[in-house]
Amino acid sequence: MKPVRVTLIPGDGVGPEITASVRTVIERAGAQIKWDEQLGGKAAVVACDNPIPDALLASIKKNKVALKGPLETSVGHGYRSVNVTLRKYFDLYANLRPVRSLKGVKSAFSGVDLIVVRENTEDLYSGIEHMVAPGVVESVKVITARASKRIAKFAFDLAAREKRKTVTAIHKANIMKLSDGLFLDCARQIAKGYPKVTYRELIVDNACMQLVLRPQEFDVLLLENLYGDIVSDLCAGLVGGLGLVPGANLGTKAAIFEAVHGTAPDIAGKNLANPLALLFSSVMMLRHLGQDRPAARVEKAAKRLLEEGKVLTRDLGGRASTTQVTERLVELL
Ligand code: NAD
Repeated sequence: MKPVRVTLIPGDGVGPEITASVRTVIERAGAQIKWDEQLGGKAAVVACDNPIPDALLASIKKNKVALKGPLETSVGHGYRSVNVTLRKYFDLYANLRPVRSLKGVKSAFSGVDLIVVRENTEDLYSGIEHMVAPGVVESVKVITARASKRIAKFAFDLAAREKRKTVTAIHKANIMKLSDGLFLDCARQIAKGYPKVTYRELIVDNACMQLVLRPQEFDVLLLENLYGDIVSDLCAGLVGGLGLVPGANLGTKAAIFEAVHGTAPDIAGKNLANPLALLFSSVMMLRHLGQDRPAARVEKAAKRLLEEGKVLTRDLGGRASTTQVTERLVELL
């Protein structure tokens, strides 16, 4: 098979450590990839005073697929989130985050197997904020029928394709009657086209409680951007934490694969980060590229590593470094 060109963004914080690990493992598993490494986020600001260099955008435009480490966004000031900008620029409207219990991982629950489908382009992430008067600020929540129908269709298509039983739309339409109300109207319209998939709705606060009581009862979750972001981290916590949950940002023009977690500044540069969330994201990427064999090999090695329970990073209760986990994964391949 001819190698495929993929943009690699090492990212900030733990990003360079985990992307190096993943690169080693998937290359050893036989992935046919020619990496096109590009800077983004804080690393790019340091190098060229621009968090989203033109070269990064051109690379993703050309390759159509990227594997991305986390990117730092400062709180309360500074440049706009590069993650949000990339998702909007390439119209990566669907954020897909499978959350599964894995054998060998100590967590509060077993038997969790759900998929978070998060709308990725609008909502309070529109970036429209203004000060009305000193001490009074407005943030604009944008919800459109076009984006809501598109993400609902994505969720139902996924459910039908993967033989999932239920799509649950999660909302706060009791309070945000117009915006979340529109989101629900669109989901209901789309649901009519999928009679074999059960459609239900839950208010977001109730959904959070049900998720931490009986997560096994959830299947495909359909959410707007902000609820999707928050509920993703909650769901990661159900199965052992952020070190395990992968993600894909998908659109019609490009796909960017990344872990759910951020730059983990508290452990950055210490060789302590768990590379598995990004590794599972790379498995999704390999399948997207049609490289199913290396994808299956990597997934099997990662699952065996967890089942063995001997070489694990600290977030999973172990004492191993990122390097040791990488080496063990290569041995298991
Ligand atoms: P975080 O996800 O970086 O960290 C939360 C906690 O989880 C920390 O205790 C961290 O040590 C731990 N953790 C995260 N990833 C881990 C890993 N691979 N292995 C072991 N432990 C891990 O969340 P945060 O601290 O709220 O955010 C830090 C920065 O990351 C912020 O600038 C934020 O904007 C950014 N961020 C980026 C993305 C992205 O690039 N997609 C996503 C979320 C947050």
